[in-house]
Amino acid sequence: MTEKNQKIVRSKVAIERHYLPVEIRNKNFEEVNLGYLELEEVIKECERCYQCFTERDPEIKPPPCMKYCPTHCNSREIIRNVLDGEIDEALKIIYKHYPFPRSVERVCPGYCQLHCTAGKNGDPIQIPMIKRFLVDNYGPLEDYFRCNPDIGKKIAILGSGPLGLTVAFYLRKYGINVTIFEKMDIIGGMLTTEIPEFRLPRSILNTEIENLKLCGIEIFTNKSIDKDFGINQIFESNYHAIVIGIGTQKARWLKLPGEDSRIVVQALKFLKSFNLRENIPDLDNKKVVVIGGGSTATDAARVAKRLGADVSILYRREKEHMPAGKAEIEDTENEGIHIEFLINPKEFYCLEDESQRIVCQRTKLGDIDASGRPTPILIEDIEIVVEADYIVEAIGQETDLSGFDTNKFKITKSNTFVINEKFFTSVPKVLAGGDCVLGSKSVVDAVAHGKLIADQIYEFLK
Ligand SMILES: Cc1cc2nc3c(=O)[nH]c(=O)nc-3n(C[C@H](O)[C@H](O)[C@H](O)COP(=O)(O)OP(=O)(O)OC[C@H]3O[C@@H](n4cnc5c(N)ncnc54)[C@H](O)[C@@H]3O)c2cc1C
Ligand code: SF4
Repeated sequence: MTEKNQKIVRSKVAIERHYLPVEIRNKNFEEVNLGYLELEEVIKECERCYQCFTERDPEIKPPPCMKYCPTHCNSREIIRNVLDGEIDEALKIIYKHYPFPRSVERVCPGYCQLHCTAGKNGDPIQIPMIKRFLVDNYGPLEDYFRCNPDIGKKIAILGSGPLGLTVAFYLRKYGINVTIFEKMDIIGGMLTTEIPEFRLPRSILNTEIENLKLCGIEIFTNKSIDKDFGINQIFESNYHAIVIGIGTQKARWLKLPGEDSRIVVQALKFLKSFNLRENIPDLDNKKVVVIGGGSTATDAARVAKRLGADVSILYRREKEHMPAGKAEIEDTENEGIHIEFLINPKEFYCLEDESQRIVCQRTKLGDIDASGRPTPILIEDIEIVVEADYIVEAIGQETDLSGFDTNKFKITKSNTFVINEKFFTSVPKVLAGGDCVLGSKSVVDAVAHGKLIADQIYEFLK
């Protein structure tokens, strides 16, 4: 057979990533998903890539991994560089899109992987794990800290979450000065306050935040627009534009009878107390019930499990409709957390002198709703009683708009900022992005917005 006619045989099975064994991880807060540990494993995984459309102009027909990534990161090119031994070139592509990739790749929902061609006939290429190995072991390059000379402009950013940090980093690259005003006394948004350390170790996150600061980003904590100042005052301090990146930090309540008990808490508050080590409840041997189906629910359940509780999750649809990532759901179940599907709470009985419980109803699935999932319909005559010593609600969040004049800012029905195609809100020289525009979404979506906003500001200031 000539070389040209030789068929390349690619493995359909992904190289397995490493995990901390369940019996160890249920008892501590160490990182669970260890990814790849050797370059050899990464190269083998890269060898499975089809290098889709390599002959074509990527701008005309980008490979699915690039097309579906919110940042349009060229993962095909990263993989090719790894196979050519050009690790620095691969890193340059990663840092072009992500200012804190060690953190992002640990929590990324992997839209690239979901659409990867290899996934149509076997396992998709484990793109976030490949990128994570590269940045963990070889990044950042010296170039990371280099910024263009000061062009004499300054921008204010509200919020130090993934959106705010990304805008700040890429503006500094353009030589633009930035000040972040953060409401809390801690930097990083949901990355720091909500995502638990067994998915995102704090040593990794803190190192990346410190690296960002070294690029010359000025940050003031405990500064909130509602409490300390208004939009007009920021402009009076000679800022040329303002970027709003305040996320969706206000948790929604189910609004059910009995909810005002102290044993019913919001997942955001519960996770924050744990992550910041403030007022962690004693859950040893307690029955904890978490209500919801997103990352917030699985994270709260897994934290409660590690605090010694017997944990279950109640979700009103089926497993395939849960917003949490597939791997997170698998990890949650593997850790011994039971997920009860097609169930909805109706009333809490939480008085201290009665047996504490949740009365629930069964649900069945109806037509597809606005979220693209089937509507849960209550089956009126079936009631189920679930015992609970501690109840955590994780049913969604929205933007806290206090301090913003909603007569001036155009706001959607779901309490997000309306922006135009250049990220400007209805108030002149004020831009917005991340969760406070998209609704609760993802870190990589906020990072993608952040880079685009920095580019827009640079164009606008020029
Ligand atoms: C429990 C949990 C788990 C998650 N897991 C994942 C995951 O695995 N993968 C993933 O991709 N995404 C995950 N997410 C979602 C992700 O964290 C968010 O999409 C992302 O953090 C949004 O970034 P942001 O910068 O827009 O907002 P945020 O991260 O919410 O940051 C907003 C910042 O603004 C500050 N702020 C608020 N109001 C004001 C004000 N008035 N003035 C000044 N500052 C203000 C806040 O204190 C905060 O620091 C998770 C979210 C939660 C809650
Ligand atoms: S879509 Fe998958 S197979 Fe195709 S280039 Fe990207 S990583 Fe490789």
